[in-house]
Amino acid sequence: MESTKIILDENEMPQKWYNILPDLPNPLDPPLNPATNEPIKIEELEPIFAGELIKQELSSDRYISIPEEILDIYRMWRPSPLYRAKKLEDILKTPAKIYYKYEGVSPPGSHKPNTSIAQAYYNMKEGTERLTTETGAGQWGSSLSFACNYFDLECKVYMVRSSFEQKPYRKSLINLWGGSVVPSPSNETNFGRKILKEFPDTTGSLGIAISEAVEDAAINDNTKYTLGSVLNHVMLHQTIIGLEAQKQMEMAEDYPDIIIGCCGGGSNLAGISFPFIKDKLDGKSDVKVVASEPSACPTLTKGQFRYDFGDTAETTPLLKMYTLGHEFIPPAIHAGGLRYHGDSPIVSKLVDEGLIDAISYHQIEIFDAAIMFARTEGIAPAPEASHAIKAAIDEAVRCRKTGEEKTILFNLSGHGHFDMSSYDRYFSKKLSDD
Ligand SMILES: *Cc1c(COP(=O)(O)O)cnc(C)c1O
Repeated sequence: MESTKIILDENEMPQKWYNILPDLPNPLDPPLNPATNEPIKIEELEPIFAGELIKQELSSDRYISIPEEILDIYRMWRPSPLYRAKKLEDILKTPAKIYYKYEGVSPPGSHKPNTSIAQAYYNMKEGTERLTTETGAGQWGSSLSFACNYFDLECKVYMVRSSFEQKPYRKSLINLWGGSVVPSPSNETNFGRKILKEFPDTTGSLGIAISEAVEDAAINDNTKYTLGSVLNHVMLHQTIIGLEAQKQMEMAEDYPDIIIGCCGGGSNLAGISFPFIKDKLDGKSDVKVVASEPSACPTLTKGQFRYDFGDTAETTPLLKMYTLGHEFIPPAIHAGGLRYHGDSPIVSKLVDEGLIDAISYHQIEIFDAAIMFARTEGIAPAPEASHAIKAAIDEAVRCRKTGEEKTILFNLSGHGHFDMSSYDRYFSKKLSDD
C-alpha cells in the first residue's frame, strides 16, 4: 500500500505568507469609526495593536516575508503533515479521495500558534510588555500564552465563562506556559462588572470577553490587545497552512476539487483555502471552498452581511461582515471555538461573492462524524474541527451516490484531547441539539 502520510521537508517550508487583499475581485469595505462612521485611521488603532500588525491588516503586498525568529519557532512542528484518509474513504465506500492537513501537531494542539507566534513577536519588537486577549474554547488563550513565553511577554486571558467551567485543563495549559486567566465576565474591568451586575448567571460570550480584553489594553500603557481570528492579519499568518498543502498536494500528484474548513472567525478556513482561491482567481483551477459552521451559531448561513461591532460593549471599529448581531449570545455548545457572532471580513466578502459556500450542522451529527473519524484515522478531533470532517464525509457520500471521483481536502484544525468531557457527554447521551 502506498503511504498515506505526505511530509514536506523542513527546507521546503514557505518563507512568506500570502496576502489575498490585492487579489480580491472587489476591495473590502473599510472598518469604520462608530462615532463618526468614517473609515478608521491608523492612529486610532495604535493604542490597541502593534504597528506592524496594523500595516499587515491594510497591506497590498501579495507576499509578506516571515521573519527568521518566527520561522524558528514554526519549525518546532511545521511543516505539518498532510494525510490521505484512506481508512475513512474505505468505510464510506466512496470513489472520492479525501486528504486532510493536520494542525493538531502544534504544542497547543491547533492552528492558532501560526498567528500567536507572529503577534507576540511583532509586539515584542515594538516594546510591548503585556498582551491581553479573549478566548472561547481556550485554544487561542493557550496559544497566546505559549507564544508570550517565547518572547518574554506577560499574557492575560479573559476566558468565556461557559468554557472556563467546561474545559478546566485549557486553563492549566495557559498557566503552564506562564499566562494568567480569569472567567469572563470578570470583576476586573468596568464592562465585566456591568454585565455581572445585570446578568449574574450569564455563561459569557466571545463578544463580552473581547470588550474586557480591549478595555484592559486601552487603559494600560505597556499593554496591547491581540485577536485569534477575524482580522486580516490573522488570515494572512494562517496561509502557511494552504501554502504547505499546495506543495504536499503536488507531491501527491493531485489537486483538490473541494476544500473544507470549519468556520468560527474564519482563520483556519482562510489558511487552508486562500492560496488555492488565488489559483482559482488566476483561472488555474475551479476549486469549491466550503465553510462549515454550527447551526447553533449560524453566522454565514443565517446572518446578515452588514457593518457590525466585533464586541458586545461596542468598543471595536465597525466591520463589514456576516453577523448575527453583536448582542447575540450563542448557546453553550461544545465547539466553543465556533461561538462567535461575526466572521472575518475577507471570508464574508468571498461568501457574498460566491467564492466560498457555507453549510451548518447540528452538534450530535458533528460528534457522530468525529467518532467515525477517530475509529478510522485514529486522531481524536476537536469538536470545532469535526465540522470540517462532517462536511467532508457528506461530500464523499454524495460522490458515492453520483460516482464522482472528486478530490476533497479539509483542514483538521486541532485535536480534541482537552474535549474529553464533551465526548463523555456524547457517550452518555447528554448532548442535545439546540
Ligand atoms: C479557534 C478554533 C477554530 C475556529 O476559529 P477559526 O478562526 O474559524 O479557525 C477552529 N478549530 C480549532 C481547533 C480552533 O481552536
